[in-house]
Amino acid sequence: MSVLRRLSRLKSVSVSIPRDESGYLGRECPVEACLGIFKVLPGTGIEGVDLCYCPYCGHSSTNDHFWTPGQLEYAKSVAMRKVRAALDADLGDWARSFGTRSSGGLIKLSAEYRPGTRPRLRRYAEPELETHVECEFCSLKYAVFGIMAFCPDCGAHNSLQLLNKNYETVEHALRLAETVAEELKVALIVNALEDCVSILDGFGRELTRVHIEKRTGTKCEEGIHFQSLEGASKNLEERLGIDLKAALSPDEWETCRKSMEKRHVFAHRFGVADEAYLRKTGQQSRRGNKKVTVDTEEVRQTLDLLRRIATFLYAEICKAP
Ligand SMILES: [Zn+2]
Ligand SMILES: [Zn+2]
Repeated sequence: MSVLRRLSRLKSVSVSIPRDESGYLGRECPVEACLGIFKVLPGTGIEGVDLCYCPYCGHSSTNDHFWTPGQLEYAKSVAMRKVRAALDADLGDWARSFGTRSSGGLIKLSAEYRPGTRPRLRRYAEPELETHVECEFCSLKYAVFGIMAFCPDCGAHNSLQLLNKNYETVEHALRLAETVAEELKVALIVNALEDCVSILDGFGRELTRVHIEKRTGTKCEEGIHFQSLEGASKNLEERLGIDLKAALSPDEWETCRKSMEKRHVFAHRFGVADEAYLRKTGQQSRRGNKKVTVDTEEVRQTLDLLRRIATFLYAEICKAP
């Protein structure tokens, strides 16, 4: 059977898609409004999974919907070259078998086939991406722009993983604070308190943003802020129907709320209490400015409570439709 005939009977031509120098395979979200580029490391993650999640918008579809334009152009060019090579081989064979034919000595016929240029191979380069992540649920290794993402294999959002990693750094800073001179110690503790809240805020804002976007199917520029516990709780109730206060006991909620108010005083008033702080924390108004103090134990306790709030929120959002 001729090579070309054999090729024509095939329903598809198999093309192996090159990976980057670290073995990662490029992917692109098929959603027009997203078109997010990411990479996955084949051989890690869930075995045999055919569903892929976009790390940016959470859209899910079968793996064959996530080829990049560069990969498709490359595959097309490889397929065209295979067809062209088959055509060259068949016509060359035909020309050889034709040989030289004569009709009574007057006319001599001969056939020769000269192959033309093969279609150009469309090579491409995978882009460098900012963050490499290993999913804590399915162990898939993947790379994305930015830092927050859905896992392309299991669809879990990595925001809680990032929050926990950042809280470990804060715990490390608190241990360090116990070993240094007083002035530096105070600065480290105050920074740790500020970081605890900023980390929760970054986590909560991104988690709620992608959830709102996924749920409504429309772009959401900003999620819910978590710099004030009461404000976040109110917004969550109104926008997503989540009761954040259920994450803690009423006493724990109060402790956490007051620590977050304290953070506000350090961040915006050099640690000096104002009327608003005294009112919000249920303290008597007094003459003169009062310096607020904070110690490692209080920050550790706040960190634990905020971690529980984050874990609760993550679970609530994951089970939400
Ligand atoms: Zn997407
Ligand atoms: Zn995963």
